[in-house]
Amino acid sequence: MPATLINYGVIPGWALLAAVIAIGGGLFLRDAYRLLKLMLLGRPASRVDHPVERSRSWLIHVIGQARLLTRTYPGVMHAMIFWGFLVITLGTIDMFARGLWSEFRLPILGGTGFFAFIVDAFQVFVLVGIAMALYRRIKIKPWYLNLSGDAIIILSLISTLMITAFLSEGFLRAWDPNEGSSWMFVGAALAPLFQPLGAGANLVLHVFFWWAHVITLLGFLAYLPHSKHMHIVTAPFNVWLRNTQPKGQLSYLNVEEAIEQDKPLGASEIDHFSWKDLLDTYTCTECGRCTSVCPASISGKPLSPKNVILDLRHYLLDHGPDLLSGDGDGDAAHAGGEHARPELVGEVITDDVLWDCTTCRACMDACPVFIEHVPKIVDMRRHLAMGESRFGKDLQGLYENLEATGNPWRFPRAKRAEWAADLGIPTLDEAPDAEVLYWVGCFGSYDDRSKKVARAFARLMQRAGVKFAILGKDETCSGDPARRTGNEYLYQQFATENVETLNAAQEAGIKTIVSACPHCYNTISDEYPQFVGNYRVMHHTQFLAQLVAEGKLKPEVPRQEAISYHDPCYLGRYHDTYDEPRKVLSAIPGVELREINPCRQNAMCCGAGGGRAFMEEKRGRRINHIRLEQAMAVEPERVATACPYCLMMFEDATGAKGVSDTLPVQDVAELIEASLKD
Ligand code: SF4
Ligand code: SF4
Repeated sequence: MPATLINYGVIPGWALLAAVIAIGGGLFLRDAYRLLKLMLLGRPASRVDHPVERSRSWLIHVIGQARLLTRTYPGVMHAMIFWGFLVITLGTIDMFARGLWSEFRLPILGGTGFFAFIVDAFQVFVLVGIAMALYRRIKIKPWYLNLSGDAIIILSLISTLMITAFLSEGFLRAWDPNEGSSWMFVGAALAPLFQPLGAGANLVLHVFFWWAHVITLLGFLAYLPHSKHMHIVTAPFNVWLRNTQPKGQLSYLNVEEAIEQDKPLGASEIDHFSWKDLLDTYTCTECGRCTSVCPASISGKPLSPKNVILDLRHYLLDHGPDLLSGDGDGDAAHAGGEHARPELVGEVITDDVLWDCTTCRACMDACPVFIEHVPKIVDMRRHLAMGESRFGKDLQGLYENLEATGNPWRFPRAKRAEWAADLGIPTLDEAPDAEVLYWVGCFGSYDDRSKKVARAFARLMQRAGVKFAILGKDETCSGDPARRTGNEYLYQQFATENVETLNAAQEAGIKTIVSACPHCYNTISDEYPQFVGNYRVMHHTQFLAQLVAEGKLKPEVPRQEAISYHDPCYLGRYHDTYDEPRKVLSAIPGVELREINPCRQNAMCCGAGGGRAFMEEKRGRRINHIRLEQAMAVEPERVATACPYCLMMFEDATGAKGVSDTLPVQDVAELIEASLKD
């Protein structure tokens, strides 16, 4: 007999259940609506394009738990809890519906032994998952995870839910073995233990634990909007609403319009973020995966991507209501008074935190619920760079040099092609039949070390018979360092000029743009489309892999060496290019590729992205030293890479550690050239 068939005084059981559902559900809806209103403080954002791709990805990442399962222990733990909850939710719907109307049966599954069995089985999985979660937090204690009061409350509530369900089942079967289903194997196993208590006590205890289960469940529901476990509700939406634009594309900001109309330049207030950014903050599970892979966090800097998201969430919850009511508007609110609130950028999230980011994207790739950290950090950098002109001398020098000469070091623009003076490389004007445009980039044009790479790559193309040209003094900075440090205004000047140049090149017959710099490659391929510049762009490792595959380059001189390849972030994580550089290196006879741990999509940044190459690294350990140590741990004889920034950072690190002679660092192009016969 279900507990709802009993009358409690004058109140029928079903009516009591309806009242409890109304209270628990009502509290949940009230507080969820409050969160929704706060979220809608955010700016508009369109996130409904590519519905098929979104739904496919949703199935993989929400139902399939794909990202979570990339780490075995926490992945299995979470999957057991998540899949358990899916099945238990069905069981709960069935239970509530039958409690309100005893004739109800869930279609297909309701009342079957199979359904009773899988609900019990998944309840066991959930309990195992909870035990694993507690063990991890109390015993294993990963440095990026903390045991918060909220986590203890939620883990206790879930355990109570499962235990009360089993006890309620057990006492029911002990009271009457014909009640419930014998497929409820936990209840069936417990029943013989309870039978000696007698039928009356068993009935009372069944009813007690049934109500304890129901009240815990509805208490859990009412508590959810106050807990990080609100991600149970928001994560499926957040994953479906993920960004489907190219990974390397930051949002477009109409700077001139913003200045004219006195709109924010970047984000300095919580309502300067989009509603999707605010949904991200609700969705953070506090798992710490982002922080565990962040080079800034690993090297002891103040930046923790998890904390950035949590700081935004807390700020929204604490000060959003004032913004909603209009009491917290304007600069005055930062000055003092009843509704005073701290500066979001500067006080809550400090400038150091924002400048420490290398935009390496490791956090975003690791986050199981697709939270977007980098765009938020860059939005706040935009406020610092353009809204406040608040940046260090190093960035000031960078911006001045870029404005003056179109490169970070103020070399004359007229000397941009000097590196190629004796190689007979034509500029576009001199080679009307060129089909490939070699975008050299600032490093390849002016940096002595990278000039060697540019020359090696150019010679390789000449040997392969590629009809290519360069832009010479018509090339300027791609704008990447300006954009990623928040100076969108300066970036857009470069983007506008370069798109005009590249569109003209395309009209002149250029079919492919190739660059040896992953940052230029990313900017031209992923970001110039915002300025109506759409090109076929290749990174030089992709281009070289093609030339090797076509037999136009034949590496024959053997190199009996163990080489470790370092994946540049803007080639790997941003463009999923992992195989081509390895194919090129593997084509060299005798080479043993020895992978660094971590590598490929988990590779740690060299420390130079996001404009960090032009900023002093003042806090924590040097990121490039840590990355070099990771490489040295596998004892390679040489390190290869495919990015001028990485090359510079690795050589700096080998120099600092005194291993420059024993552990040379080279670009993939240099290695392939050395393997060609004269
Ligand atoms: S992009 Fe890289 S450096 Fe920046 S917060 Fe994410 S992991 Fe850290
Ligand atoms: S942002 Fe993502 S990865 Fe980082 S703690 Fe939150 S849920 Fe975990």
